[in-house]
Amino acid sequence: MPLYEYRCNDCSAVFELLRPMADREVAAVCPSCESRASMPLISRVAVHAGSVSDASPSMGGGGGGGGCCGGSCGCGAN
Ligand SMILES: [Zn+2]
Repeated sequence: MPLYEYRCNDCSAVFELLRPMADREVAAVCPSCESRASMPLISRVAVHAGSVSDASPSMGGGGGGGGCCGGSCGCGAN
């Protein structure tokens, strides 16, 4: 289950919450003031790096780039 960060609109507290992906947009209750006026922060979607980052077997030989190295953007030209 991913860990999401939220910021309380009332007291500006930032807190983290483990919740299902489907519940990300649902307002979380602030632990400081118990307000429900919280917004999910988009900055860090922490799915604990390490389990995902170093395993991309099917992308195949792009030279470290992403999906743009297929030829259309010319990153393999030089
Ligand atoms: Zn609060």
